[in-house]
Amino acid sequence: MKNIVLFGPPGAGKGTQAEIIKQEYDLFHISTGDVFRFNIKNNTNLGLLAKGFMDKGELVPDQITIDMLSDVVEKNSHVNGFIFDGFPRTQSQAHALDSLLENFNTSISGMIALEVDDEILINRLLERGKDSGRADDSNREIIENRISEYYNKTAILKTYYQRKNCYYGVNGVGEIDEITSRIIDVMSKI
Ligand code: ADP
Repeated sequence: MKNIVLFGPPGAGKGTQAEIIKQEYDLFHISTGDVFRFNIKNNTNLGLLAKGFMDKGELVPDQITIDMLSDVVEKNSHVNGFIFDGFPRTQSQAHALDSLLENFNTSISGMIALEVDDEILINRLLERGKDSGRADDSNREIIENRISEYYNKTAILKTYYQRKNCYYGVNGVGEIDEITSRIIDVMSKI
């Protein structure tokens, strides 16, 4: 199995690139943000739990997120590999992901990190907020909170995957297809 963590701050372009890469390599794409939004839209218990955190730009608590992710992986364990988009976002999610994949005799092949400056991120998210209908893209304060959650809790995962020798940084600024080519370059090495 080829299992990729697509990594980067909010607005880095993970979702856009994941959609392209999954087709190129026939991988199963899991976006934790999308799963939460689906649950919110359908008024499930999980959706109700997650909404309060998401609307403020905070991370949803680890156990809720890990249980949800495990459930999706277990139901799709027959696939060629996964693209994890928006997961892991904390140290304990990274540990949980390692143990989960171990149960299926597989592991993370690489973390591909999209690198983009904060000012560009904020502008991209405000722009997306104009028509995405996403409450968390609608104001600068919530966006800044998401970016600060990223630096406080998530950015440290770079070291976690560097230690495993599977961290690959990719310049996330440019045209969509340029960035895709950079990712494909990395994919050929892992
Ligand atoms: P973005 O990367 O643009 O912030 P996402 O759709 O990945 O967008 O995430 C939106 C929100 O969903 C996050 O701000 C957070 O509240 C919640 N979320 C998504 N993934 C996780 C996760 N792994 N752990 C905790 N919360 C998460």
